Amino acid sequence: MSQPILPYGRQTIDDDDIAAVSQVLRGDFLTTGPTVEAFEVAFAEVVGAHHAVACSNGTAALHLAMLALDVKPGEVVIAPSITFLATANCARYVGADVVFADVDPDSGLMTPATLADAMMRVGGRQLRAVLPVHLRGDAVDLPGLAALAADAGAVLVEDAPHALGTTMTYGNVAQTVGDGRHAAMATFSFHPVKTIATGEGGMITTNDAQLASRLRTLRSHGMVRPEGADPWWYEMPEPGFNYRLPDILCALGLSQLKKLPQFAARRRALAALYSDALVQLAPVVQPAQSPAWSDPVLHLMTVLIDFDAAGRTRRQVVDALKAQGIGSQVHYIPVHRQAYYRDLYGDADLPGADAWYARCLSLPLYPGMQDDDVARVVAALRKALA
Ligand SMILES: *Cc1c(COP(=O)(O)O)cnc(C)c1O
Repeated sequence: MSQPILPYGRQTIDDDDIAAVSQVLRGDFLTTGPTVEAFEVAFAEVVGAHHAVACSNGTAALHLAMLALDVKPGEVVIAPSITFLATANCARYVGADVVFADVDPDSGLMTPATLADAMMRVGGRQLRAVLPVHLRGDAVDLPGLAALAADAGAVLVEDAPHALGTTMTYGNVAQTVGDGRHAAMATFSFHPVKTIATGEGGMITTNDAQLASRLRTLRSHGMVRPEGADPWWYEMPEPGFNYRLPDILCALGLSQLKKLPQFAARRRALAALYSDALVQLAPVVQPAQSPAWSDPVLHLMTVLIDFDAAGRTRRQVVDALKAQGIGSQVHYIPVHRQAYYRDLYGDADLPGADAWYARCLSLPLYPGMQDDDVARVVAALRKALA
């Protein structure tokens, strides 16, 4: 009997999730009802932030963050090249320019050194925001990046879709990704491969009440209802968007969030099994490096493969894994290499991003995997490289 296919990531939906959604479907509010706030309050508590604002997806979260900060045409946003397209694109939505930061070739993360280098390429323009990504779920050096951003008069916004549940210890202070201690805002996504799923969905956390209020206004057309005004009355000081997350999906998010401790424990356990099993494939295969301060709930199990030493191309390895029922994915193609950004800015020289891209491959990691699936994946990888 053939074994089931293991994708690189997938959602975990149980009967209680389905029941939670059904209950909302039978109620009065499909959207903009009480479940939105319930999800927001619960989410803020889980990451330790004062405010959480739900929105339609992680890309909308990034766009809203840029709008709430009033990032303007001609200003600059720094994003790492190794990330999903949306991290950079959000700057373009508001007419700002992107300066791509390089990444550490072994962790894939923006570092204070790569940020400092990117800042030198800002030139005479105004740097408004820095958008580090907690790639795979590992926390970046937030205090280091925050200090550099503050010196430049720029705001730090964590793009955190990979890192829900990740904790880290800087100095002696333990904290959680999205708690707002070092960054003005953090953005999350609930795409099915992410740590909790709503299908489409996003969240922004912040400790700044004014930013939270602005984000809420901007996610719903820019409409405000002044206190004491007539019941039909609304005003629009500036146009916003319809980036709301419906109650139906907030119910799913709330139900999923309750299981975050289990999901996180399962991801940590599977990552530990991978870490042990991958030793047999060293030094050709190495897990991506985790910074000392980071205690990640990994979203991605990314390994770095020396394809030259193995005498195999990545395509051959991906195909050989697929033939054995193992899905894999590349996270990510450097965004600065995309045609759109090449045409805009020319070819940046980011050797860390290129070195990361040349070796990275993400292996299956999701809570529904069995312990012995890890051995199966690693055996399949060994065969694919042999
Ligand atoms: C998933 C993701 C996004 C976008 O989230 P969507 O919900 O798919 O719009 C942005 N940045 C990173 C790093 C992501 O992984």
